[in-house]
Amino acid sequence: MNKPADIKHHTVPLWIGGKPVIPAGRTGDVYNPATGQVSKKVPLADAKTVDAAVKAAAAALPAWRDTPLLRRARVMQKFLQLMQDNQQELARLVSEEHGKTLPDAAGSVQRGIEVVEFACGIPHLLKGEFSENVGTSVDTHSLRQPVGVCAGITPFNFPVMVPMWMFPVAIACGNTFVLKPSEKVPSASVRMAELLKEAGLPDGVFNVVHGDKEAVDAILAHPGIAAVSFVGSTPIAKYIYETCARNGKRVQALGGAKNHAVVLPDADLEFAADALIGAAYGSAGERCMAISAVVAVGAAGDPLVKLLEKKAKAIKIGPGDAPGMDMGPLVTAQHRDKVAGYVARGAKEGAKLVLDGRAQALPKDGYFLGTTLFDNVTPGMKIYQDEIFGPVLVVLRANSLEEAIALVNANPYANGTAIFTESGGAARRFENEIQVGMVGINVPIPVPVAFYSFGGWKNSLFGDLHVHGVEGVKFYTRTKVVTKRWPHQDTPAPGFHMPTLG
Ligand code: NAD
Repeated sequence: MNKPADIKHHTVPLWIGGKPVIPAGRTGDVYNPATGQVSKKVPLADAKTVDAAVKAAAAALPAWRDTPLLRRARVMQKFLQLMQDNQQELARLVSEEHGKTLPDAAGSVQRGIEVVEFACGIPHLLKGEFSENVGTSVDTHSLRQPVGVCAGITPFNFPVMVPMWMFPVAIACGNTFVLKPSEKVPSASVRMAELLKEAGLPDGVFNVVHGDKEAVDAILAHPGIAAVSFVGSTPIAKYIYETCARNGKRVQALGGAKNHAVVLPDADLEFAADALIGAAYGSAGERCMAISAVVAVGAAGDPLVKLLEKKAKAIKIGPGDAPGMDMGPLVTAQHRDKVAGYVARGAKEGAKLVLDGRAQALPKDGYFLGTTLFDNVTPGMKIYQDEIFGPVLVVLRANSLEEAIALVNANPYANGTAIFTESGGAARRFENEIQVGMVGINVPIPVPVAFYSFGGWKNSLFGDLHVHGVEGVKFYTRTKVVTKRWPHQDTPAPGFHMPTLG
């Protein structure tokens, strides 16, 4: 048997100019979170390697942006088919490196595929406007043109779906792309690059560089990159937004979250509890749209907490590829320990620890942590204020809908939220008054479908435009307005003063 030092790990390559590339230099370890073992190595790109990827993207840009719309759409259609054919393999890669269960991973791949379906309609989405006779013999039309080389920087928790919020739309719009996925989960991006090539995408249109802060900083500083899409934690999102703005780049930077579910006393509590359990503990709470705080209103509180406790206890925890599991491990040992630290802190802060994730029977190897439920949490507690990003659900109590809305609106995060009620009036008031980007009514994780746009408010998004849907098309295109005149004998002579055309 090999001693650990003898094991030769597969190196996940970068993808530059249509080819796998393994540059010399620093490398990182990729773990299987279910076993705690290193499974692969990943090169960590420096500025020179990032520059090579940007040059490949820049070289591919002129021909790709001039490729007829229908041909670009056909590449997307072929890619859509290949993604569907390879959905299970991609889900396996996601599960192996992130830890989430296979069905959960397959669902997230499906949500990414839906963005490709949207991007297949690009000929329609890029139609401009035309006005005849805006002045005598003068017509005006507007165009949507690609912005150039775009970059995407993505988090560990959705290795397929989050990159797919970005690149299918960017590429369909005629841009070329450099993706910097999370170095914790590098494999799926390279597999997607292979599938794009198989779909007929010209070399250089889509590139992948792996890396950490060094690679990210090289992207932010590179004069050849016109636009940056980022998804990750709030402090880094803010840094990306500010640096890109300073460097004159278009930027959308989606950050972290603390998503609240408000449960009114008239709600079907059994239904609400089932929905909340999946939303809080699914993917081990490592979802930016996970429900991490429940605001129980009035008489809903005690019975709801009892139901949540019973259902949270029944969750089956084990390796993501084992059949019948509800929840896998956390992504790294460090993250598992950080989340466990919050459980200890909550108990110290005086919240009622209804269920302790540290005290459950769990697989010995890997980065497992059980499900934690806190009750009687107050806004001053750290377990409420911070994004924990693990299987920890906190319950706060409120006396009225008004008080619940005020609590949610006072939180600096504003990604998603949900209300559970049978009352149309209460739901309508919530929808109208809540200051959050994505709202569910009896829907716990209101991730918009691909033909709408995804994004939060406040500290959950820095920038103006959300991802995919029509806002995604706007982000990846610039408008140009053309005013034209073809003079003939009736055309008035050009004047000296401010032209009014009329
Ligand atoms: P992260 O912010 O640590 O990393 C995101 C990306 O930034 C990675 O590619 C990483 O390599 C890079 N990065 C990390 N540190 C950096 C630094 N100091 N300078 C420059 N780049 C750096 O996030 P994560 O831990 O990978 O993902 C979890 C976070 O992402 C959570 O906060 C979660 O809420 C958030 N998230 C948000 C959304 C959303 O839509 N708003 C979606 C998914 C995840």
